[in-house]
Amino acid sequence: MTRIFPAYAYGDGPVAGCYWAGTVPDDSATTPVASGRITADVAIIGAGFTGLSAALHLAQDGVDVVVLDSMHAGWGASGRNGGFCCLGGAKASSAELADRFGQDALTGWRRAEQDAVALVARLLQDHGIAADTHSQGETILAHNDRSARELAQDVARVKAEYGVDAAWHSPDELKDTGMAGPFKAGLTIPVGFALNPRKYIAGLLRAALAAGARVHGHSPVLRITQDSGGFTLATDLGSVHARRLIVATNGYSSEDLPPWMAGRYLPAQSNVLVTRPLTQAELDAAGWTSRQMAYDTRNLLHYFRLMPDNRFLFGMRGGLLASPQAEAVITARARRHFEAMFPAWRDVETPHGWSGMVCFSSNRTPYCGPIPDLAGAFAGFAFHGNGVAMGSYTGALLADLVQGKPTRLPYPDVMRANAPRFPLGRFRRALLPAGYALAGLADL
Ligand SMILES: Cc1cc2nc3c(=O)[nH]c(=O)nc-3n(C[C@H](O)[C@H](O)[C@H](O)COP(=O)(O)OP(=O)(O)OC[C@H]3O[C@@H](n4cnc5c(N)ncnc54)[C@H](O)[C@@H]3O)c2cc1C
Repeated sequence: MTRIFPAYAYGDGPVAGCYWAGTVPDDSATTPVASGRITADVAIIGAGFTGLSAALHLAQDGVDVVVLDSMHAGWGASGRNGGFCCLGGAKASSAELADRFGQDALTGWRRAEQDAVALVARLLQDHGIAADTHSQGETILAHNDRSARELAQDVARVKAEYGVDAAWHSPDELKDTGMAGPFKAGLTIPVGFALNPRKYIAGLLRAALAAGARVHGHSPVLRITQDSGGFTLATDLGSVHARRLIVATNGYSSEDLPPWMAGRYLPAQSNVLVTRPLTQAELDAAGWTSRQMAYDTRNLLHYFRLMPDNRFLFGMRGGLLASPQAEAVITARARRHFEAMFPAWRDVETPHGWSGMVCFSSNRTPYCGPIPDLAGAFAGFAFHGNGVAMGSYTGALLADLVQGKPTRLPYPDVMRANAPRFPLGRFRRALLPAGYALAGLADL
């Protein structure tokens, strides 16, 4: 595996303080290490939302499917994210999407974003997954006056593009509805909800296994070879032979698995802190009592929500280096931002802190489709930090694409555009500091 961050990013260090881990029972016995010779119709690399959603949909179609993960199911971003099941997936603006793909494709993409949220809601319902859901849509909070004016204009844009009525809030209205803070305005879009991502992934795993999928943890794929019969995936203790292949490794991808991936994805860190349960007096002191999931309008955004057990989750874009020292620095920075935004909680402990990799593409849109130089292989990645819903959706699309049948859900043009390579090849991580600096300047 050739990866572009230091080894620390791919180990257990960054996720050691993850709050979600203690909220689910250990299910590793259901995902034994792959050993010996295993055969299947379809092999999937990666047991996150994308891989497990693909596995579930394939198994429900009666396809013999095997999933392999280097660690355990949900070990990647899927088991350690902020739990915003929300619109999004691309970084490109509406104007850019309309320019590149046309107005109809923009409409199709906006529809898919909503369908992705609906898919997760349906999966929770159909498989009896209790995932501590809350929030009626999502609220965007303006961090300066310019953003407040833009949010006011967004009411019409949201109606035109998503067909839903968004509500604009003045600072007084925000305060009255329990969302007090240094915010100049707010906009609530009534689509999406929050969940415990680890409970969702554990439920997806159970559903996929019950439908007949096989999932192997601690089984890193070390090599992919192709011959006339299909693919052979070599792991530490065995090999999987499958006629078709899905690569669902997103921010934890490798340059060589398969080589087509090289340079086409850019992992970037995101960080989360979680407080101890807050008392009612503490919530009242900050003026934040709402269960709405919220994020601010910065490019280097903060995202936060009050969870059902009164713990407060606060996340932000992470650092540029991966090491225990860098992790400590970025955790301290997240803590400073938390205290600046919610000074009433200056003395509230944040016993949980962790980080993980989101994934960008150079054309700022997610990719879902065939791997061009590897007949029978497909990939889905680059959800730009919004993969709870869109990763699940991509998995459902991949399940149909790999079977060569029409997709059960609309397959947006926006996701079909091949992901071009970033400049600088294996050293493309060096693009991030300049990108962050520019994003930070634009936030002023
Ligand atoms: C801190 C953080 C907060 C986030 N918050 C949100 C949020 O609130 N809302 C939202 O929508 N999105 C959020 N995201 C993004 C979201 O979590 C991801 O987009 C989504 O989980 C991607 O799912 P995936 O299945 O494609 O990839 P992942 O969940 O990253 O899974 C990839 C898997 O591939 C495995 N793998 C890699 N290489 C190999 C190999 N060679 N062999 C075997 N297995 C391999 C890895 O072990 C990993 O488990 C956040 C991400 C982070 C890191």
